[in-house]
Amino acid sequence: MKYLSFHDGDRVRPGFVDGDCIVAIACDSLVEYIALPPEQRAARRTIERLPLADVRLAAPVRPHKNIFCVGRNYLEHAKEGARALGRELKLPDVPTFFSKAPTAIADPDARLRFSAAISREYDWEGELAVVIGKRIVNATEENAMEAVFGYTCLNDITARDLQRAHLQWLKGKSLDGSCPIGPWIVDSAEIPDPHRLQLSLRVNGAKKQEANTAQMIFRIPRLVAELSRGLTLEPGDVIATGTPDGVGFARTPPEFFQHGDVVEVSIQKIGTLRNAVFIE
Ligand code: MG
Repeated sequence: MKYLSFHDGDRVRPGFVDGDCIVAIACDSLVEYIALPPEQRAARRTIERLPLADVRLAAPVRPHKNIFCVGRNYLEHAKEGARALGRELKLPDVPTFFSKAPTAIADPDARLRFSAAISREYDWEGELAVVIGKRIVNATEENAMEAVFGYTCLNDITARDLQRAHLQWLKGKSLDGSCPIGPWIVDSAEIPDPHRLQLSLRVNGAKKQEANTAQMIFRIPRLVAELSRGLTLEPGDVIATGTPDGVGFARTPPEFFQHGDVVEVSIQKIGTLRNAVFIE
């Protein structure tokens, strides 16, 4: 099942895809729906149907807290980063977690507007994102996947100059519009193994990143178990699982978004998250 959020006048409403239609869900948000006990969810499905082609999609979820992210979770990306920064490659024993502010979240197909006065180095990071389906703390690797509601595409757009300038990555990762998510969440029943999905990122149709989620250093059960140790995860929380190699700053010569670029993150079994980038 594909779950989404869509604009209806001033409201954002949840729904799911049925053929070429959206079936509306009677909840205030998709996060509210996800938080329901699974046996209560079916009763919230309405008979209201809208043609998918006629609606403007919104980011499927807006979590109550920051988006959790994982740095250096693909070996080739860790290598390219170390090479570009002239550093020795040292892989951590535990995942490197950081976060993006919820105000960074942007809709599928939204024009992302960035300021050239704030950064000259807007860069892409295509990622598989995990959406949490139930409140959980101290998950084990054995039960972690029971807490997963589904999966979506996420672009962890990064202002590289700000990322380097500040000791913490938060600022360079959290600019408004730097976290497009979508186009929808595919539930975990439809993706029993999220570690065998092809992932790619294109800029103006040119492939910049291509990998398989099988190449993750820390897999999703480990990420959920590690993150939830003493830290409660809630329905609708998002974990971006890291980006593979092919990011702009590590290319020779380095490449960054240009005004008018169109960026697409595509993940097998999920779909394509597309955004235009405006730098003014
Ligand atoms: Mg990232």
